[in-house]
Amino acid sequence: MTETSLAYDSVIVRFGSEIGVKSRPVRLRYEKLVAKHVRKALRVHGIPFDRLEHSFGRLYVRTSEAEEASKAISCVFGVSSTSPALSTSSSLEDIMDRGLEVARSVLKPGSTFAVRCRRVGQHPYTSLDVCRLLGERILAELGHMGLKVNLEAPDRTVYVEIRDDEAYIYTAIREGVGGYPLGVQGKVIGLLSGGIDSPVACWLAMRRGCLVVPVHFDIKPFTDDRLIEKALELARVLAGWSLGAVRHVYVVPFGRVLEQVRSSCPERLTCVLCKRFMYRIAEQLASREKADGLVTGDAIGEQASQTLKNMKVIDAALASLPVHRPLLCFDKADTVRLARRIGTYDISSLPDAGCSAVPKKPTTAARLEDVLKAEEALDVEGLVHDAVSRAEKRKIEGPLPLPKEY
Ligand code: ATP
Ligand code: MG
Repeated sequence: MTETSLAYDSVIVRFGSEIGVKSRPVRLRYEKLVAKHVRKALRVHGIPFDRLEHSFGRLYVRTSEAEEASKAISCVFGVSSTSPALSTSSSLEDIMDRGLEVARSVLKPGSTFAVRCRRVGQHPYTSLDVCRLLGERILAELGHMGLKVNLEAPDRTVYVEIRDDEAYIYTAIREGVGGYPLGVQGKVIGLLSGGIDSPVACWLAMRRGCLVVPVHFDIKPFTDDRLIEKALELARVLAGWSLGAVRHVYVVPFGRVLEQVRSSCPERLTCVLCKRFMYRIAEQLASREKADGLVTGDAIGEQASQTLKNMKVIDAALASLPVHRPLLCFDKADTVRLARRIGTYDISSLPDAGCSAVPKKPTTAARLEDVLKAEEALDVEGLVHDAVSRAEKRKIEGPLPLPKEY
């Protein structure tokens, strides 16, 4: 029997370790929500399942497509890992028989192995008994394969997890996304550009339990159509991660603002002024959406507008909303790695025309008094009001691109 021909019938789902340290009621509430999202993930992926059992700290899913289910569930926020497993009763005889079946399918001739057991409930045997007896049984029945026990660094481990009347046998642990269940930390507005950073920043906020409503500022005629197309496609990918919890994106016509900034203000201040307008508009949309903060893809020093001094001046445009910058201290390589992993990199890397409003020498150290003086030449309130009133709330239509694996 080969490894793939063994028909696993269950998936063990482990909750994120940070959920485990919450008080009991909070923990239960979070776990129930993860369970709800797991059900939803299986449904939207079209993976059949007949039972989903929630036992403090774990979820046991009964499904004929354990491998696919394990992958899909590992992409649910709040899940730290999953394992396709073979289920059986907690009788020692069944555990030995099924354990042997699993061992036969995964152990290679001449390899080393270990058996590990976790047990919750009352049983006439100890965990150590299970490890010893199953190890002996494997050696006895598969003796011709030249197997050896190695408890320190085995090639493969056969895990047995026993919960009351049931037992699960597995050999693989698939890493999950971790974090908190989506929605438990409220809502934020995600400033989604079309580049590499902002979708990753939004995703990181989602992983911490925030619902992220994306907002894209359409800077045409200072770019072409490709930028907005990328942003909309990125919003779809994020909606897929949210399992459809957020299915709209705001598109704000921003060309008029940029035109005014370009024609009436010192060129070197363009990017700082541009960002201050974006923040003011996003703050108004946040109040409409009852969101408690903004999320951006800024990283210290990455662009002229992202120096510490400029970020300070840009943030001063906000009346009361905080800006959250999940990538503040990320190196680009870390962001790119994550972007690839969550499926946004290829879209972000598509060519676009960039922003032609960016000056040759943008300031890296704007002074607030200069910026305020520059803004005196503009009808700031009127421009913000105009952009907000023309902001379009677009529904993200059609089937979502679902994350297949983390
Ligand atoms: P990105 O971080 O998305 O790759 P970038 O590195 O080119 O963009 P900036 O243009 O300085 O950086 O933008 C910094 C942040 O401001 C972005 O991460 C994003 O959150 C926000 N932002 C920039 N342009 C837009 C836009 N057109 N629409 C929405 N948000 C934007
Ligand atoms: Mg960036």
